[in-house]
Amino acid sequence: MKIGFTTSFPIEVVFAAGHTPIDMNNIFVTGNAAGFVEQAEFDGYPRNICSWIKGMYSVALSSEMDAVIGVVEGDCSNTHSLMSTLVDQNIEVISFSFPYNKDRNKLAAEIEKLEQYFNVKHSDVLEIKAQLDKIRKKLIYLDELTFKENKVTGLENHLWLVNSSDFNGDPEDFEKRLDKFILEAKCRKPMKTNYRFGFLGVPPIITDLYDFFLENNVNIVFNEIQRQFSMPYLENDIIDQYLRYTYPYSIFDRLKDIQEEIKRRKLDAVISYSQSFCHRQIDNILIKKYVDIPVLTIEGDQPGLLDARTKLRIESFLDMLKY
Ligand code: SF4
Repeated sequence: MKIGFTTSFPIEVVFAAGHTPIDMNNIFVTGNAAGFVEQAEFDGYPRNICSWIKGMYSVALSSEMDAVIGVVEGDCSNTHSLMSTLVDQNIEVISFSFPYNKDRNKLAAEIEKLEQYFNVKHSDVLEIKAQLDKIRKKLIYLDELTFKENKVTGLENHLWLVNSSDFNGDPEDFEKRLDKFILEAKCRKPMKTNYRFGFLGVPPIITDLYDFFLENNVNIVFNEIQRQFSMPYLENDIIDQYLRYTYPYSIFDRLKDIQEEIKRRKLDAVISYSQSFCHRQIDNILIKKYVDIPVLTIEGDQPGLLDARTKLRIESFLDMLKY
């Protein structure tokens, strides 16, 4: 069965049940994204709702998902209404919640509920976790090739990490391609760029953002949320793994990780990316308050290329860094 989902959750359970988890965000952004948004608006989704929600709605309808797992706590309040419109279209929906206060027992109960739904044993889930952790370990190495050795571009880093949310539905194939990529990247000469940036926030809907930075001699050596999707802490216990995952919890959990990585990766500045009409724009207040290196805020709305205004703002920011 094809099981779509709205944001990272314990995919180990779905794999253990022999089904294919599919991150609908990845299908949206790598497919006909503008068309998906248009389709949702045609069905009545308002103009001033985030494009990702509209994209996921259209993806769920057009990709013949057998069911959709909606993360209804710890991600996006729009997901509640998205789920209702999917139910109305006869799509089976399953909810998953990350408890706001990081309550261990509540998270354990959520995972257990998912295991019961898919009728899988916890021991099978842990076996899958061990297999996925083997791949996650290689992604940590890929990340090190990015920030320690300057051999991987920000875009490549972004793509590998963001796709680890579902391993493209086929972990074995993902691992084979990853091995090949690492082998090739290891032999590259280190890149020389003027600046090392971090990218904070949800993955961008803008398609040429990384290329534009690289053209301007900036490599992005930290993709904050994409790295979180890759579950980089390799905790033994699956509950600990999803408790350390910062994205669903408070901005203060994210800030702790961001501050550590700014130091570890010796970043010159960070981009704080947010999506139009997203509640996470409010978090930007605290990011600007507590991040003590220069912060450039970029907002994305519709899928597509960087607009001229944002390019100018990036260039002005880079000029400012020179002085
Ligand atoms: S970008 Fe923000 S509003 Fe859009 S789906 Fe993600 S959390 Fe929700």
